Amino acid sequence: MRIVLVGPPGAGKGTQAARLAERLDAPHISTGDIFRENMKNETELGKEAQRYVDAGDLVPDEVTVKMVKDRLAQPDAQEGFLLDGFPRNTAQADELQKVLGDLGQRLDAVLVFEVEDEELIKRLMARGRSDDTEETIRHRQEVYRSETEPLIAHYQDIAVRVDAVGTIDEITDRAMDALADEPDD
Ligand code: ADP
Repeated sequence: MRIVLVGPPGAGKGTQAARLAERLDAPHISTGDIFRENMKNETELGKEAQRYVDAGDLVPDEVTVKMVKDRLAQPDAQEGFLLDGFPRNTAQADELQKVLGDLGQRLDAVLVFEVEDEELIKRLMARGRSDDTEETIRHRQEVYRSETEPLIAHYQDIAVRVDAVGTIDEITDRAMDALADEPDD
């Protein structure tokens, strides 16, 4: 299956994506993880992304789209994938559609993880990643509302909502149920 995960920072997409990837036997592709890995290794890509990630801004589409295209061209992604953190705006969604279209592929489902704002702040403050200061968290939430949330309407035909408050197992089960309900015409 070809799946996109959408949700505000702190919704637990990364945790769930890893679990779903295992159950569905498809690679978990997290743009945030790829950026962090490159930043840690001080690659060119990492240096380019650093200031945006630190500020909680989106890395420019040009950089991000190229990175995702390269990743989706890898052999392990040919039968399916879970994209976590991409697309994050409608321009990226259009690029993704082009890439998949050229390969005769399309997305099967978009999982939308839903959590209330207050709960999100609590979770993120507890996590304490280097881009998890209160100021960048707020900024990332604003970016999510303005840039990423419109994707839910954009993908309305294949978007399914998942209540992302509960135990990790409960949420994985809900996500799997949501995928099973999604008719694949
Ligand atoms: P979170 O969802 O918790 O904010 P991620 O790990 O998904 O965190 O992403 C961390 C940072 O990486 C983002 O704040 C952004 O700077 C960058 N990033 C990740 N995905 C994208 C993307 N699709 N487009 C642009 N920037 C991205």
